[in-house]
Amino acid sequence: MIRIDRPTDTPPQLGGGAGLVQTKIAAHDADPALYTTLKGKFSFDVGVYGHEDVRQILKSAQRWKCCFCESKIEDVSYGEVEHFRPKAAWRQSKDAKLKRPGYYWLAYTWDNLLWSCKMCNGSYKKNLFPLEDPAVRNCVGRTVANETPLLIDPSACNPRDHIRFKLDKAVGITGVGRVTIDSLGLNREKLVESRRERLQYLVAVWENIEMARDLGRENNVTSGLRTLERAVLPQAPYSSMAIDLIAGLREAENAEAA
Ligand SMILES: [Zn+2]
Repeated sequence: MIRIDRPTDTPPQLGGGAGLVQTKIAAHDADPALYTTLKGKFSFDVGVYGHEDVRQILKSAQRWKCCFCESKIEDVSYGEVEHFRPKAAWRQSKDAKLKRPGYYWLAYTWDNLLWSCKMCNGSYKKNLFPLEDPAVRNCVGRTVANETPLLIDPSACNPRDHIRFKLDKAVGITGVGRVTIDSLGLNREKLVESRRERLQYLVAVWENIEMARDLGRENNVTSGLRTLERAVLPQAPYSSMAIDLIAGLREAENAEAA
């Protein structure tokens, strides 16, 4: 996971959401108890928050990668617009009961939207939204001011302050990092396999550079180094893993030379 710079301007297509939210707020406040039950389930307009223009802006800001796992999504599947704070209902933990209402008033809020792969969002995160102190959660009062989420919002902080990589495995270096890895399945088998393939490729590039150096093939050294430089850029798949891998290889090389 890496930091995402979501453009600050709200896409005009989300403007239609303001009226939809006002209607929901009025309905909710007329009978708050109803909306804590399935009977008071809200419906949401995917045509607004998932509008093609909204998707395109998110995809472009995220370099066509999942906001959580850094997989290049559309190589293999379609992505989806994901609500960081779940709109319909929430769970404090995987085994906890589903609670309503969700963060329905944020369903069309730009800062709450990310672009995610179907596995991270649909199979793992779903309605999970754990808080450090669950007692401060107040969806009925529509306030998030006191919340400290235990999931990383990659548009609000640098995820690398919480998650690093030991070879192909994600490692939480803070409590939030560890909960995020577990909640989003960031060490799920298929994902680790995909990261491993990328890792093996980068290790091979590294070894080719060393070999080219020994043989005095400067052109090959230069092109190999360029490949490694590109691997740590935000547009590269699994760039956070690549940063830690390459730093580790450099460290080992320096230790050997010392
Ligand atoms: Zn993902």
